[in-house]
Amino acid sequence: MRSLTDLRSDEIASRISSKIREIAKRVGSVKIMNFCGTHEWTITHYGIRYLMPEEVELVAGPGCPVCITPAYYVDAVVKLAVEGIRVMTFGDAFRLMGTKARGLPRNLEEAKQDGADVRIVYSVLDAIKIAKDDKESIFFGVGFETTAPATLGPISSRNLPENLSLVIAHRLTPPIMRYVLENYPGSPIRGIIAPGHVSTITGADAWRFVAEEYGIPIVVSGFEPIDVLLSILEIVKQIDRGEAKLFNEYSRAVKASGNERALKVMEETSDVVDAAWRGIGFVPKSGLILKEKYERYDAFRKYGIKEISKEEWYNDSIPGCKCTEITLGIAKPTECPLFMKVCKPESPYGPCMVSGEGTCLIWAKYGSSE
Ligand code: SF4
Repeated sequence: MRSLTDLRSDEIASRISSKIREIAKRVGSVKIMNFCGTHEWTITHYGIRYLMPEEVELVAGPGCPVCITPAYYVDAVVKLAVEGIRVMTFGDAFRLMGTKARGLPRNLEEAKQDGADVRIVYSVLDAIKIAKDDKESIFFGVGFETTAPATLGPISSRNLPENLSLVIAHRLTPPIMRYVLENYPGSPIRGIIAPGHVSTITGADAWRFVAEEYGIPIVVSGFEPIDVLLSILEIVKQIDRGEAKLFNEYSRAVKASGNERALKVMEETSDVVDAAWRGIGFVPKSGLILKEKYERYDAFRKYGIKEISKEEWYNDSIPGCKCTEITLGIAKPTECPLFMKVCKPESPYGPCMVSGEGTCLIWAKYGSSE
């Protein structure tokens, strides 16, 4: 295993970049999508785009779970908070905006400012501790496969108190990758950097379909700069050889089959359903719903809130915000006229400026490295 010093070494980075440049001259234009917000952070924070030859373009993908959480969930939890239910969630989801429907506060942060009992927690386990006082409470669970097992675990282990129910807004990543590949309008994506954290749960094999069905090289990558550079090198090498394979660069953390225990928790407690993604619409088999036998833990069922259907879905993009295009790798934050003018980290206008995994917030903090 490489040391952290090696994984951040300028000298190694320079050697890998030279190799990428050499191969890129032969293979021509290569657009590579990094699925994950944390990879976007690595790329931007360490200036990896500056190291790329002109042939290699790195575009961010849909891997910011807060950015893609539909507004109707936010409206629902804000309404419950205003009605006196205690709402607990992660810090990013606290600031995520809904639609301000029916004069409701814009997000949980505003609801709290108006006096609602809203708490930021690090996990559902914190929510369980707080709910020991018997007050009616909900936990608003947002995230991909990385966080879903943690939200669902207490159901499986029967540790959830009667007064605590869950809003399950978790989403699954391979289906949105498929959606992006099927609907991508620009010049073709020729390589994909698959999410590392998610893959610790799903397993690297979850991404094999990208290579086998779409003929696109895909590399499960770690999050250090050398990890990302090696992943890019692997992609251009495969293109040069006329191959498309799944490669696990992050084998120090990711197994082919993933985390069987976590996958079992998800399978035991929830069913996979078609689900809405903010600004995008319904994506087949990309969401989770609690199994009927656990419906007493489902906040929507408990408080009579209807899950939105495909027919009822409305485009919940915020007017003027290009977050949907950015999430799908079609636009960059700097192409949004509101970037760093109306929309800034201290006063976000759109979801991609709210979350630490949002491309706009990352570019705002560290520069675009274009
Ligand atoms: Fe949306 Fe703000 Fe990003 Fe523009 S800068 S796309 S308004 S989040």
